[in-house]
Amino acid sequence: MITADNMTSQQAIDLEDKYGAHNYHPLPVVLSRGEGVFVWDVEGKKYYDFLSAYSAVNQGHCHPKIVDAMTNQAKTLSLTSRAFYNDMLGKYEKFATNYFGFDKLLPMNTGAEAVETAIKLCRKYAYEVNNIDENEAKIIVCENNFHGRTTTIISFSNDPDARKSFGPYTPGFIKIAYDDLNALEETLKNNKNVAGFLVEPIQGEAGVYVPSEGYLAKAKALCKKYNVLFIADEVQTGIARTGKLLAVDHENVKPDILILGKAMSGGAYPVSAVLADNHIMNVIKPGQHGSTFGGNPIAAAVAIAALTVVKEENLAENAERLGQIFRSELNEFAKENNLVKLVRGKGLLNAILVNDTEDSSTAWDICIKLRDNGLLAKPTHGNIIRFAPPLVMTEAQLMDCITIIKKTIITF
Ligand SMILES: *Cc1c(COP(=O)(O)O)cnc(C)c1O
Repeated sequence: MITADNMTSQQAIDLEDKYGAHNYHPLPVVLSRGEGVFVWDVEGKKYYDFLSAYSAVNQGHCHPKIVDAMTNQAKTLSLTSRAFYNDMLGKYEKFATNYFGFDKLLPMNTGAEAVETAIKLCRKYAYEVNNIDENEAKIIVCENNFHGRTTTIISFSNDPDARKSFGPYTPGFIKIAYDDLNALEETLKNNKNVAGFLVEPIQGEAGVYVPSEGYLAKAKALCKKYNVLFIADEVQTGIARTGKLLAVDHENVKPDILILGKAMSGGAYPVSAVLADNHIMNVIKPGQHGSTFGGNPIAAAVAIAALTVVKEENLAENAERLGQIFRSELNEFAKENNLVKLVRGKGLLNAILVNDTEDSSTAWDICIKLRDNGLLAKPTHGNIIRFAPPLVMTEAQLMDCITIIKKTIITF
């Protein structure tokens, strides 16, 4: 009998391979422990985590304040469902709405559920407040978006892996180029019944595409002009990752609907949320939307702790400062190195573009070598490697990581 105590990496990989659905292609490393910016594999080798579970672990692995909040609440009351009130949800809603500057919060668990919630909210508002023709609402989305994996969300993806053979697709979405204000204005002008514009302030999964400066502010202004809701999916970019609390804060934009997930819990628990002001959120009435686990007491306690850590430890400021160092160091390096084309990003959400064909395995091979050298990162679409360490990293640790990255890439 294999137990966690004596399992080798290969045994753990074989178990997943045999008994698990093959819906992921993990880097071959089997982790069994995490603390702060570090993770350890089952053989005891230590690594810098440079992915942070797709920016869920912004606060660092197993942050003691978050773990304490979670374990204390787990021992007290874990789940009531929303059939009854619990003494944590209202406290959390007050805290989080105040924290992000909205009237109301609707609690969910995963990012995709929160995106689905935002879509439903946007449509309902369009029909009931803006008098859009029944069943004709359109939501504008961007090419190369990533908003999750549900049937509706993949309906407006243009990633063949995400879409193919999962139809029929949900109608009601119009896809336009990202970072293209003309396309947005033309689409707003030429279509009846547009209810909203759903956008990632930086496209994370697509390869950390940072839009032109002013894009978000101007897109928001266009939405206002045409009376459609500006919906920001900050599941990956939010909660200090890009050097501000929210990525839209770089352009002083307040979305009509804000979608959060991932780092809402610091990676301890699935917690997502949709925030909006009263005139929008009030269109949802009892029985019209919900989730058994959404807003459960553990999630509420964990989210309060996770958001408190972000402020107490100045994680946005740290991400901003370290991000500047990271990009300037690696862009210097890119000037003399043929393999790295460029480094882009904001705060500690960055990516390097590998100078090779899209279908080559170079980015993957670099990630394997980085692993051997004690740093874990994962290629994303095309030949791009995303670098997103926990935001609790120190400057000395970052310099150590930059050395590992340079040293590794030089060997190719
Ligand atoms: C990860 C992600 C999601 C989906 O979150 P899940 O918790 O995996 O469902 C949605 N939007 C963005 C921008 C993401 O990065």
